[in-house]
Amino acid sequence: MNNFHDEDAMVKEIARHFLPSRGGKLRLGIGDDAGLWKPKLGFVTILTSDWFLEGSHFLREKHPPDTVGWKCLARAASDIAAMGGTPRCFLLNLALPVVATGKWLKGFLEGLRRAAKSLDCILAGGDTTRSERILISITVLGEIREGQEVLRSGAHSGDLLYVSGTLGEAEWGLRFLRKSAGRVNRKNAGMRKHLYPEPRVELGRWLAEKKLATAMMDVSDGLSTDLPRLCAASGVGALVDPEKLPAPRGIYGESARQLALHGGDDYELLFSVSAAGASRLPAKFHGLRLSKIGEITGGRGVRIIDKNGMTEPLRAAGWDPFRRQK
Ligand code: ADP
Ligand code: MG
Repeated sequence: MNNFHDEDAMVKEIARHFLPSRGGKLRLGIGDDAGLWKPKLGFVTILTSDWFLEGSHFLREKHPPDTVGWKCLARAASDIAAMGGTPRCFLLNLALPVVATGKWLKGFLEGLRRAAKSLDCILAGGDTTRSERILISITVLGEIREGQEVLRSGAHSGDLLYVSGTLGEAEWGLRFLRKSAGRVNRKNAGMRKHLYPEPRVELGRWLAEKKLATAMMDVSDGLSTDLPRLCAASGVGALVDPEKLPAPRGIYGESARQLALHGGDDYELLFSVSAAGASRLPAKFHGLRLSKIGEITGGRGVRIIDKNGMTEPLRAAGWDPFRRQK
């Protein structure tokens, strides 16, 4: 696969990977000055954008290009899931060095196409330019029936706090990846979660349709960083029971707890449910575990039960690109 030296040819190659786009949903896709999107009657459009940058979010020498393609869309779509919505189409803004326009781009587009197919989300356009490092920005359009959207701000004191899947598994995979030399091992569960996260679209949609979640967000920066955001938006506090955190299989004790509290990149859903709603919540949704990890409290701040059964503040130690390194 040769490198490209022509923007139009590259855009054609990108479009080729996603054709034929199914008509109907999108009025107009790639090829004109802009795309056309017709919202469904009675639905609101959800808009979200995410950067995915070489050096900050992935390493060109460590992360295979197809995993970069998969993950950049999956993590952006996770924000749609966190509102209870369904991803519909996306824009791809891509800045590449010439050396990455051949084999790397092909692998990237394959991973991206697989994610788009599995999410049933159509490429509607984007922009392409050249840069020293690989820079990717994805904008996703989603939709939800008006009035069903689940915000961060709806949690009430007395609600119970839940999380889907496991916490800390992607971070565990990342640590594994950092230590390992050579090709990545895609069979390792932690590594899979780090490389191919799966946005919880069906769960989010179901919680929204059934009006079960009073507040919801996705956990992208780690529970200890994200939970305070939900609490602040709702004007409430929370109490977390560390015994109930769904740590990944195969790791135990204090390290499992630290990973579950602070590990980022899991893209699980964190949501609050009223006591009455909780009785309608299954232990598993389509095989995905739903764990009660604590409760919403009246005071401000997030606290955690300590070894003596007392409570202490939960310190935020998740991912923040602007936090000073210790
Ligand atoms: P303009 O110069 O007016 O910005 P472009 O040549 O950038 O137009 O884009 C032409 C068409 O190709 C548009 O439909 C645009 O959405 C699409 N396009 C450009 N880059 C990408 C990309 N990276 N992914 C998907 N579509 C793209
Ligand atoms: Mg352009």
